[in-house]
Formats: sequence, structure tokens, C-alpha cells
Amino acid sequence: MSVKQKKRYERPILKPVTQGVTSKFGPIQTFKPITHIDGVSVKALIEQHGSPLFVISERTLRSTYRQARTAFRTRYPKVQFAWSYKTNYLNAVCQVFHQEGAWAEVVSGFEFDKALGNGVPGDRILFNGPDKTEADLRKAIEHDAVIHIDHFDELYTLLSLAEQLDARPRVAIRVNMDTGIYPMWDRFGFNYENGQAWEAITKIMVHSRLDLVGLHCHIGTYMLSAQAYGVAASKLANLAKNIRKEYDHVITYIDLGGGFASRNTLKGSYYAGSDIVPSFDDYAEAICTTLLQAGFSKEALPLLVLETGRALVDDAGWLLGTVIANKRLSDGRRATILDFGVNLLFTSFWYAHTISPAQEVSQHSEEAVLYGPLCMNIDVIRESITFPPMQKGEHVVVHRVGAYNMTQWMQFITLRPRVVMIDLEGKAHVIRQAETLDYIQSVEQVPEHLKKVKW
Ligand SMILES: *Cc1c(COP(=O)(O)O)cnc(C)c1O
Repeated sequence: MSVKQKKRYERPILKPVTQGVTSKFGPIQTFKPITHIDGVSVKALIEQHGSPLFVISERTLRSTYRQARTAFRTRYPKVQFAWSYKTNYLNAVCQVFHQEGAWAEVVSGFEFDKALGNGVPGDRILFNGPDKTEADLRKAIEHDAVIHIDHFDELYTLLSLAEQLDARPRVAIRVNMDTGIYPMWDRFGFNYENGQAWEAITKIMVHSRLDLVGLHCHIGTYMLSAQAYGVAASKLANLAKNIRKEYDHVITYIDLGGGFASRNTLKGSYYAGSDIVPSFDDYAEAICTTLLQAGFSKEALPLLVLETGRALVDDAGWLLGTVIANKRLSDGRRATILDFGVNLLFTSFWYAHTISPAQEVSQHSEEAVLYGPLCMNIDVIRESITFPPMQKGEHVVVHRVGAYNMTQWMQFITLRPRVVMIDLEGKAHVIRQAETLDYIQSVEQVPEHLKKVKW
């Protein structure tokens, strides 16, 4: 280099030293690369299937399900899971849970059809949700599904349908209640404390048109309190006992819905989710102990139904992606732009997702912001993460993305990528193809007078 040649300049920045900071629980961040998922190379997966790419581990799906089932079955004799379709309704995922013995829990006519399409017998479909059309209800009655009634309008519609069809639909009511968790989810179902739930029960019992088989609640999602489920179980058990007393009628199941927390970390939480969320054993202990002590005779113990979604599927999902570029923001922070954003990772709105490099990186790190590729300011994957510098073309792996992302993703600006499932032998199967322009446009129509433009 000649003396006169100007050296390259990079604007200096001042910032507090945060590297290597530890809390009393140890180092804040280490950068263990995730090079393989279930023995399959991340790099090879991206080479073969493209980036970004969702990957689902069949092994983790099954082992998580079995953990949950064991936690409940060892504490209570009659347990049934019903897979919450909206949490992830890719058919391959549903089929893994159905093979493991789960029924289907659906919240729309679309999901109902998906469950039927997967071969779930109608009488093993639980139909929740506030928006069941008359046609949906008709179909549910014809397939002998259990309809979880959400409001009085639905109850009246059902009563008239039952008469028209000369059928006796199996129903449950959804109950909302104060479990000590606020804000209370009281927009779905009938309230326990103000007597509405009992009023609904009375209206069902005085008509012999509907067969009240269950009581249901779904008290919230990502519930950090196992005890709230104990409260819910006790209130539903009370209703069941009162129905027995008043009407000499036996409720066959009590359904505590979903909402168990996955091990993701909520934004703003001091501690990692994996350190603080209750385990399946904690939830099971709270629920089963309450039901066993509620005063049912051994023969009359209701079946315990669980509609766990998030906690069963989150850990099994991974999102692989690639660094598009790096830049310095005006305040000096490093910004890394990734090829996936909130279009694919909807849950980054409330989780501080764990993100790992997919190859060896330097242990040097600095505070960075991780952006997605969308032309939109809200497209932020992590506002602030201590992250090693990564170069364009290098890969990252997002942990615990199995719940809700593959149903709430949006086709915005760009197409949705492939999803693969790694089976128990380590073979990757495409379970959803990448979208194409033709696929998206197959439902579009252009009126005749707009087909031609003169340039
Ligand atoms: C969404 C939903 C579930 C699943 O909730 P998770 O938080 O994913 O466990 C279960 N039951 C009903 C009625 C739901 O709406």
C-alpha cells in the first residue's frame, strides 16, 4: 500500500461494554451452532429445499406427546387428547398426533373438513369456536361430532336444527371463569360466576333435544400458572355435580382446553421460558388432583379431555434462514437482515425467539437487531439480541417455531417456503411445497376490460 493511498474509514461508535455480562444464572448468551436437526445437516437441507425453510421433527412431536400423555395418565385413569388444529394444521403434523391417539379439536368448518379429510371419525371431532355456520352445525350433527356451544344464539340455532333434522346432537358448553388470571378470557362461552353457564345448562336440560355430554373451558394461552387449571377443573367439576344432582344426568367428559405454555421466552421476561414454564407434570398435578378430589365416585369419574396445542408442537418446529446483508444503523447498532420476517415468524411479535448460527462462529458478539426482508418497519425478528457477526450467505436456525407460525403466516410481498418433516429414520419429507406465483394467482380473476393495457 502506498503511503498516499487513503485508508478505509469506518465511523467510530461509542457504546457501553456488554460483552460477557453474566447474570447470577450464568452467561447471558453462548453461540452453540445448530449444524444438524435430528442428525440431518442444516446446510444440506437448505441446499436441497431452499431458504427459508421450516423443518419439523417427527421424533420431537412424538416424544413431546408421549411425555404429556404419561404425565396425565399416571395421575388420572381416563385421559384423551384432542389435537388443536389451528395450532398447526399441516396434515402430516395432524396425522402424527392422530397416530399417537389424539382426537381432533377444530374451530371452523374449514378445520372440520380438514379433520374429516385426515380420516378422523366424526365422533372424535370436538367442534369449538364462536363462528359455526348453520351448514357447519348441520355437518357436525350428521357426523356425530360434539358441538361445544359458545353462545345462546348458537344454542337456539342448534335446537331448531335438531328439530328439523330429527336428531339429538351431542353437545358441551364452553364455560369461561375467573381462575385468578387477568385479563380474564370471558369473550368465549358462558360465564361461570354470573350464572350464565348454569342458565345455558338449564336451557339444554329442559329440552330433551340436545344430549349434554361434556363441559369445556379454555382459560387462555401460554398460561404460566398451573394452579389456574386447578381452579378451572374445580369449577367444571362443580357444574357436573350440580347437573347430576338437579337433573340426574351424568356428564361424560370434562375438557380443560389448551393453553399450556411452551418453552419459548416471552418478550420482556427476565428468565428463559425453558427455566420458568410449568412442566406437563405440574399442569397434570394441578388438574388431576382436583378432579380426583372433587367427589366423583370411582365409576363416575369423567373422562379428562385436553386440547393442548402450543406445548405439544412448538419444540418440534425449526425455521432455517440465511443472512441477506449487514448494515450499521444511524445509532451505531449492527443490523442483520434475514430472508425471513414476520411474514413467516408471526410469533416473533411476542416471543424473544432463540436464534442460533448454523455454522461455527466467532465468540465475539455485539448487540444487534435482526430484521426480516419485508419493506415494512414492523418486520423485526429480534429488537435486541447479543449476536455474533454473521456474513451474507451464512445460515441461522430459529428454535421452537412449531406452534401457530405455519397457520398464521402471511403471504405478503413474497411466497411461503417449503416445510419438511424429518422422520424417525432421519429422512426429510416435503410436507408442504413452496408456493408459486401460479398457485397464488389461481384464485384471482381479472375482469375482461382490465385485461389489456395500452403502453
Ligand atoms: C387455540 C385453542 C386451543 C389450543 O391452545 P394452545 O394455547 O395452543 O394450547 C385449545 N382449545 C381451544 C378452544 C382453542 O381455541
